[in-house]
Amino acid sequence: MAAEIKPNIPAITKITIRELHCYSSRVNAERDKKIFIDIHPYYQRAYEPWDSRARTALIETILLGRVMNPIWFIPNITAHSIECIDGMHRICNILDFIKDDGFVLGKFVEWSPYCALAGKRFVELPVELREKIWNYALVANHLEEAYRESPAQLQYVYELLNGASKPLNSYELNRVRFANFYEFLAECRSDFPATSPIARGANIARGQLDKRLVIIIAVYRDPLLRDLTRREGVFEAWINANLAKITPQVAAEIKESLIKMRNYADDMREIGIFRGEQGENLEGLVVHEHFLYIVARCAALIHNKEKFRRIARVDLAAKFRTLLQKQNLCVELKQRDRGIKFIRALIHYIDAIITSSLEEFDTKRCFSRDLIAGKLKLQGGMCAICGIAVDIGDAEGDHIVPYSSGGMTTPENLQVVHRHCNRAK
Ligand SMILES: [Zn+2]
Repeated sequence: MAAEIKPNIPAITKITIRELHCYSSRVNAERDKKIFIDIHPYYQRAYEPWDSRARTALIETILLGRVMNPIWFIPNITAHSIECIDGMHRICNILDFIKDDGFVLGKFVEWSPYCALAGKRFVELPVELREKIWNYALVANHLEEAYRESPAQLQYVYELLNGASKPLNSYELNRVRFANFYEFLAECRSDFPATSPIARGANIARGQLDKRLVIIIAVYRDPLLRDLTRREGVFEAWINANLAKITPQVAAEIKESLIKMRNYADDMREIGIFRGEQGENLEGLVVHEHFLYIVARCAALIHNKEKFRRIARVDLAAKFRTLLQKQNLCVELKQRDRGIKFIRALIHYIDAIITSSLEEFDTKRCFSRDLIAGKLKLQGGMCAICGIAVDIGDAEGDHIVPYSSGGMTTPENLQVVHRHCNRAK
């Protein structure tokens, strides 16, 4: 086991739950002259116990004797320890169960041989099953210590390993479950220009993107997503309800969302939202999801495309550019793109930009009362549409070249009309 590891020599070995339990205590490790297993080194994200479904599935995997993805360690010669860089959540969830943190096994799938264990704590399991868990061996891979020389490199490997294991499984599983959906998505993608992130999506992040695309569609379908804490649950329900069989209605909805998003994306390109001040291309800087969220939020919050183009030219482009150039925002997004808090913050940020721009738009759009009164005098007190006298209290300023077509809010572009004439236009 772990004590055999020689510094700087990568070893592939196995480690049992019993060993993990014992030697994740430095006292025990020193007593038995074994290496200390640091389950939670500083660069790990915070431990959050899994929900009942995930943890039950983990325990079931062990009981079934299935092989899991390897746990990854890196030696720390100075601290005489090995540090866990991938698998911390699995280890902690198993050990918490064994230490009886109050967790009872949840619902197993109906065909599981362990269905009868639902509702039981570790100590309530038959002794042979408890032994099975204690003796379960995880494959342990060891990273060369050289990685430690660069904290950035270590962080990179950590992120890579952490990002790779879970999505890969769900991706492959979902491929089987939602074959129809993926086929449909492929069809939709072919409608998009090859350079569009949506078209490129298929090749990014090992299938995570397909799920993200579903997430984005849900973000676009705004009411569903107002409460983002329910995000995963909402998708799960929506995916289960809609994707295994693509009904014509669902297909139409997805297609409509994607087309609307594509149009906004095209506009953003044309307007140059994703081009920096010195012409540098910000797209390379931002991850995919970032782009898609902005597009989806625009599509959700600005229903009128002309209005979008108008706002974007004046205002949105600069604001989004500033948002995207916040270097730490991009870094943070790359590191924590699985974090619901961050996505909520991002969407909040995007919403604030769009909402404030919409308000400014409305302000800039209105003629002042003084301007209207002055112009009405020049018109001899007559409505510019029907030619009948108009009382100042009933008068409205109207853009001769419509605001939505780029007409300015200036005296030259103003005609004063009856309120009802304006409405009837
Ligand atoms: Zn009139």
